[in-house]
Amino acid sequence: MTEKRIPIVEKILNANDRLADRNRGLLDASRTLGLNVMASPGAGKTSLILRTLERLRGRLRLAVIEGDTAPVTLDSEKVLAAGVPAVQVNTGGGCHLDAAMVGDALAQFDLEETDLVIVENVGNLICPAAFRLGTHRNVLVASVTEGDDKPYKYPKMYRNVDALVLNKIDLLPHLDFDADRFRKGVSILNEELAVFPLSCRTGEGLDAWVEWVLAAYSTISARRM
Ligand code: MG
Ligand code: ZN
Repeated sequence: MTEKRIPIVEKILNANDRLADRNRGLLDASRTLGLNVMASPGAGKTSLILRTLERLRGRLRLAVIEGDTAPVTLDSEKVLAAGVPAVQVNTGGGCHLDAAMVGDALAQFDLEETDLVIVENVGNLICPAAFRLGTHRNVLVASVTEGDDKPYKYPKMYRNVDALVLNKIDLLPHLDFDADRFRKGVSILNEELAVFPLSCRTGEGLDAWVEWVLAAYSTISARRM
């Protein structure tokens, strides 16, 4: 978990943090797991979300918040086509989602009737890491096509997440991706990080990822209020 706080220590919360806490309160009250999915553009956030919805449909009640910089509804339409309620947040060119945007989107779902809300953040490896949304888990989707140096170049993002999905592993035979170098960079920054090498295209590795989501949901839904 990335959002540890020491209760005795007085901390002046900035406006975003206050709204993130409010979002967390709403999710907790309805025992809804919130996931914040971050990645660079093209790593496969939407593909991962769609594959996850396919596997969890019928097991959990799902909803998706799609963050986009422009009012293009391509990703939301794919989610809706999968039979899952989706709300599109247009950041108006902004490069990240903030807690206020996510709060507005959450208000459009019946959280009492929702077990899992997946937030697709704006494709960007820099500032999404700095804005808490109130979700329970931060997930980073990296892809082997981005290269093995990304943990070294974007340490804040890699430090700030609870799970790392390494997508497109079906392409490894065609790339010079050094898995050891990548893993070493990740473990230096975030020793506890759960890493899921997978391919959204072939389905390889998806089971372990889905189990992690279900385990996170069990933790949230069993928590005493
Ligand atoms: Mg997308
Ligand atoms: Zn930004």
